[in-house]
Parts: sequence; structure tokens; C-alpha cells
Amino acid sequence: MNKRIVILGAGESGTGCAILALQKGYDVFVSDKGEIKPAYVEELEKIGVAFEQNQHTEDLILNADEIIKSPGIPDKADIIVAAKAKNISIISEIEFASRYTNAKHVGITGTNGKTTTTMLCYHILQKAGFNVGLGGNIGKSYARQVAENDFEYYVLELSSFQLDNTYTFRPNIAILCNITPDHLDRYNYEFQNYIDSKFRIAMNQTKDDYFIYCADDQITVKNLSTHKIDAQQLPFAYDKKLEKGAYVLDKEFHLLDNNNSTNNNTHYLTMFINDFALKGIHNSYNGMAAAIAANVLNISKENIRESLTDFQNVEHRLEYVATIGGVEYINDSKATNVNSTWYALESMDKPIVWIVGGVDKGNDYESLLPMVKEKVKVIVCLGLDNTKIHAAFGKHVDLMLNTSSAEEAVKVAKRFAAKGDVVLLSPACASFDLFANYEDRGWQYKAAVKNL
Ligand code: ADP
Repeated sequence: MNKRIVILGAGESGTGCAILALQKGYDVFVSDKGEIKPAYVEELEKIGVAFEQNQHTEDLILNADEIIKSPGIPDKADIIVAAKAKNISIISEIEFASRYTNAKHVGITGTNGKTTTTMLCYHILQKAGFNVGLGGNIGKSYARQVAENDFEYYVLELSSFQLDNTYTFRPNIAILCNITPDHLDRYNYEFQNYIDSKFRIAMNQTKDDYFIYCADDQITVKNLSTHKIDAQQLPFAYDKKLEKGAYVLDKEFHLLDNNNSTNNNTHYLTMFINDFALKGIHNSYNGMAAAIAANVLNISKENIRESLTDFQNVEHRLEYVATIGGVEYINDSKATNVNSTWYALESMDKPIVWIVGGVDKGNDYESLLPMVKEKVKVIVCLGLDNTKIHAAFGKHVDLMLNTSSAEEAVKVAKRFAAKGDVVLLSPACASFDLFANYEDRGWQYKAAVKNL
């Protein structure tokens, strides 16, 4: 009898897994506790996979040999607790799909910068002519691509939730961008659990693999010695000279020749960070990480230089929207935590009218204070409950106003912005109080700016 595989969650990832599992001869069942999007219902019906929606029927799930769990389902969900009690193996899409490809993998994780770094790596590899797929949290699911394509390389964005249910997955190149507190509700409010989850990206790597990390990130550095890392470690840092990896010093980016083990400390590529397409220290970090990966893949320095220069930023990440009446408008709706907003404020060199707020995930605004005092002239709160923002910054800015729609926020910002200022939407909060998600918030903001 065929092995029974049950897939929990029928989004892009679950549907991709169903396609791959069917192709590999499993008896497949898909179950989603919510409603499945019509496009996926249609697809599941077309390929003839059994599925249910709006419920989890235990009898059809707990007879599985293996369960593939969507990263959105927490471990404490009843069905997962029940499956664990029956000792059913629970894996993620990444674990499952990686069994069926011999491609080389670049895996990217971290609290902030995953999408940007992933897209940048993908851009460099593509421009260098690699036969490469892009997956993980982005676009078409990895499993679907393993089933339908024949890529030699994959660049994968990996959240901690995806890493949690990997056991044998081994990226040839792992990038850990940084670690700051986030998603603690899923980790028993223990930061260490979240840190350990991020380090899973390196647990199966061997000495033939590479582990790229930020040497300025204290949490990462502190945890290097307490986690098993057999891969060759390649750090990157800002304003600090390093002997391997890459660094920025006096606004100049130095990529060392990390392939040249006999002659360390030789420079592979040097360029001014002003020539990077993406601005801000955080993006210098992302650029360094991607460039090291490209270097160990033997991509030419000309290719790396060109790709760092012509990369188009990803939507909702410090995205330039327009300049109206001499005021620049920037959409950083994806900044859903304090750390990402810190980098947004840091990278502004004009007086800021700052649009902030939404659903606070336990924010501590302290770290933003110096920058707010120095650069922010007006705060426009965009959220249902703005008390914490008032308490943190009320005394430190000239003006603070509450708004409850993107349109209102933009109109108010315009009223108080002068020529030469920048209006920055960088909320440091989730969006669910007023918007469907951060994209919706970003789109509404951009539409409001364009209507001014
Ligand atoms: P992720 O996929 O990890 O959420 P993104 O690339 O989508 O990361 O960026 C999310 C937010 O964090 C954006 O506001 C972006 O400007 C900011 N950001 C990007 N890279 C970094 C970084 N290396 N460190 C801190 N913040 C960053």
C-alpha cells in the first residue's frame, strides 16, 4: 500500500506539496481548517487529490504515515498535539521537497532582511546565468517547483516556522541575516527558543558548506559557540575590518576572496556603497551577505558589482513612492517591528514626518528615541490604539496626531510636511487593526499619495 501523506493547510505551499506528493506516488490527503482559496480548490480538484476545508477530520488525518504542516499552524493546535501523541512524523514543505531534488541550495533566514537578501541573491544568480529557482516564503512554492521544474540551484527564504519542522534539510550556503525578538508568542515567550529555531538552518551543514552571518549582531555571535556549526563561517560587518567574508569601511564595501583558502585576506571586489542600488546600513548588510554567497559560487566580480548596482527594491521595503511639492514619500509598510523601523529612520537624511502604529506585538520603543529626537518633526499615528506611541514619544516631538486610515494619514502628513522633508510610512507594528495585511496597508498608502 502507498504511504499516506496528509498535508495540513492548502495555500501555495500545501498545494505545491500535494502536487509533488502525488507525483511521488503517495496516497495524499489535504486538510485546511479554514476556507481554501478558489484557485487552489480548482487545482486540487484538477489533479484529483482528496481534500477537505473548514475542518480537520481526525480520522482522515491521524492515520497518516507523515504530516506536512503549513508554517502558519502553531504546535499547540489541537490537531498537531493529537498527531504528536500518536508519534506521527511532522515535517515542513522544505523538508519534504528537499528530499526530491539534488539542486544546490542557498537558504536565507533572520528576523529582518530575509526577502530583500533572498531577492538580491536570486537576482545575482540569475544574471550570472544560473539555472535557479526562487522559493520559500516567496512566490511559487518550492515543492511545486521541485515537481515541475528542473532547477540546479534554489534560493530559499526560510522563516523560523519553516525551519522548525526541517530535520535533514542541508543548505550548501546558509545566510543568517540577524536575530532580534519577534514571534515570541509561538515560542513560549522564550527568546532562546526562537534563536535556536533560526540556527536550525546550519545544523546539517558540513565542512563543505558555508554559513554566512552578521558579525555585528550580538545575539548571533553569542550563540555561535553554543550551536553545532560545521560549515565554513563567513562573517560580514559594518565599520569593522574583517579577515574573511565582507565588510564596509569608510563607506567602501570590501568583498574578500572567500574561495581562496591559501591566500586569505585578498580582496575580490571593492566598491562604494553609494553605488549599491539599495540604500541604508541594513541594505549594506543584505548586500554583503548576498555578495559573499555569490563569491563562494564563483560568480565573477563584474557580475556581482553590476547586480548590486541595478537591483530593483522589493515593494513595501523603503520603497520610493513619489515627490510631491518637494516632499518625498516612502512606503516601508513591511517594517512590522521596531528593529526594521530603526533602520528606516537611520537611513533618512531629511527631516521626517513619520507615520507609525498598528498592532503592537509587545514593542519596546526605547531604541528609537535618539533617532526620533534627532530627525522626526511630526508623528502621525495610524492605528486603533496609539497609547504606547504617545507615551514613548509624546514629549519628544513638536506634534503628534491620530489617524485611522491611510488616506487620512497621508493628508495630515502632507499638511505638516515642508519642502525638503520626507514622509515615511514605517509602522513598527502589524497591520491587522485597520488593514488586511502589510501589503494592503502599503497599497492604500501609495494610492493615497498618488491622489494628493
Ligand atoms: P523579512 O523578509 O525578513 O521580513 P524584508 O527584506 O522584507 O525582511 O524587510 C522587512 C523590513 O525590515 C523592511 O522594513 C526593511 O526595510 C527592513 N530591513 C531589511 N533588511 C534589514 C536588515 N538587514 N536589518 C534590519 N531591518 C531590515
